[in-house]
Amino acid sequence: MKTLLIIDVQNDFMPSGSLPVPYGNEIVPVINAIQDKFDLIVATQDWHPRNHVSFANNHEGKSNFDEIEIYGKTQTLWPDHCIQGTEGAAFHRDLNTEKMEAIFRKGTDTTIDSYSAFYDNGHLKSTGLTGYLKEKGTTQLFLCGLASDICVYFSIIDAFKEGFTCFFIEDASKALDTKEFENLKKSMITMGIKMVTSASI
Ligand SMILES: [Zn+2]
Repeated sequence: MKTLLIIDVQNDFMPSGSLPVPYGNEIVPVINAIQDKFDLIVATQDWHPRNHVSFANNHEGKSNFDEIEIYGKTQTLWPDHCIQGTEGAAFHRDLNTEKMEAIFRKGTDTTIDSYSAFYDNGHLKSTGLTGYLKEKGTTQLFLCGLASDICVYFSIIDAFKEGFTCFFIEDASKALDTKEFENLKKSMITMGIKMVTSASI
């Protein structure tokens, strides 16, 4: 059974948003066009409380993109983004949301970030997404969204480890750092994750 998992296609990650992913808006029509090819569509939203640990504004003397340590892991400090209930946290207005059967929200814990749709960055708590997808009968999982080198990447690595056959839809995703993504892509292919384009699904 084929499932599409759409990661964080939210206003703050668009070129006009507070944490812009270059050309992020261009994936919206691509994602809309492929939705009919799937048995199940699930989406995520980055969904932070205002006092979230990942915001540079919440750390005295720190600037955007500085790094700190949280639970022994490096955390990049971001501009305020995807604050719960704000317009910045809403899906892009042209994204077709009608066929989404479930929306999983992540990054809701003030004290830790969550790039992956499945676990927080410390792998301390699960979002329950694995159980949901398995109960629904998902075998093949196709991922797309923003950003390729961060939330889509960490989600697909976790999904692969959870036993799903994973496909990364390249033209339905955009990277924050395209050079970094090229390195990550090689490691994903080595692991056994398949790279596909929307036309080949
Ligand atoms: Zn975030």
